[in-house]
Amino acid sequence: MTSNLKHSKIGIPRAISYYYNFPFYYGFFESLGIEVILSDKTTSKIINTGSQHVVSETCLPIKVYVGHVLNLLEDKNCDTIFVPSIQSTGFKINNCSKIRGLPEIIRNVINKPFTMIEPTLDKTENISFYDFWQHTAEQLGVTDSNKIQTAINAGWAMYNNFMNMTRAGINYEKALENAIKHNFIKKEVEIVKPLSVVIMAHGYNLYDERISMKLIKKLEAMDVKVYTALDIDHKTSLESINALGEIQYWANELELTGTAAYYLLNNKVDGIIALSAFGCGPDSLMVDEITYHCKEYNMPIIHLTIDEHTGEAGFITRLEAFVDMLMRKKRALIAKRPKTIQINNSSLNGENRENNQILANAVK
Ligand code: SF4
Repeated sequence: MTSNLKHSKIGIPRAISYYYNFPFYYGFFESLGIEVILSDKTTSKIINTGSQHVVSETCLPIKVYVGHVLNLLEDKNCDTIFVPSIQSTGFKINNCSKIRGLPEIIRNVINKPFTMIEPTLDKTENISFYDFWQHTAEQLGVTDSNKIQTAINAGWAMYNNFMNMTRAGINYEKALENAIKHNFIKKEVEIVKPLSVVIMAHGYNLYDERISMKLIKKLEAMDVKVYTALDIDHKTSLESINALGEIQYWANELELTGTAAYYLLNNKVDGIIALSAFGCGPDSLMVDEITYHCKEYNMPIIHLTIDEHTGEAGFITRLEAFVDMLMRKKRALIAKRPKTIQINNSSLNGENRENNQILANAVK
């Protein structure tokens, strides 16, 4: 099967589209008999080397991406690297110019000999998902359409397994680890927490623990239940944007406005945390949009911006202050209510009812 391959290994930078799409990538390349080499987890060295290769105004996730490509070339001896150009994922549903132009950025800032596998997905220009993978396979030496379709199916199977686990409440890392081993695991029994928040953020900011400074783990350590884009499906997310009276413009908007809109409209959380890269134009528009609607719904929101200089101490201080405020707000709300209503108010969803029960007990 591997005899006609032009490349037997492919490097995948652990950045940008890796964070949600890796199960698909892995399933696809594994089916074609191509070994996947993943760059290391983000370190200060990766950020620094990436930053040194681009102009300082570039957003942190792109600096990190460049650092991961260099990690594959220099530390993993991998000279074939997958750098897709994901232009649009629907008609006029575009990515930002940096994600669209990733191959051009890499070609222009990294002056080393290597093969870049650079397919384009552009539904606005009728370049379909199948075209994208056919182009990928052809660059690797695979032209048999049956093999390509089988590999696409394998990619979907792994991706859907991953998504089914995350939507069932399995945490990101466990779901990813099990998906690529072809395992499916069930959710453990969960302890109800007194507060809940939703994080609106791109996967490449949130699940890169060096970039997000382990935001999810920090919140969980504060006894806060965390929801993310991985808890809801794309259709629900899109419908929520529309229900707020907005439309999707950016390809990766569902992770931010779609997710925040769903939890806002359903009164499912006590607050919203927006996490974005400093200087990101699309994110600042999306966060402004949600902040506007948070005022309408009296929903607390905090916007945390990150770049390579963001200090952890200040980040934690802001986070703790926000969580303290949410706790005081919730206690005050419960204290104002008659006890019978606090506990039996059927207009609240199940989880908030349980949370209120806990807090009601705490303030007795
Ligand atoms: S959406 Fe923003 S953070 Fe993401 S790559 Fe584009 S500019 Fe950078």
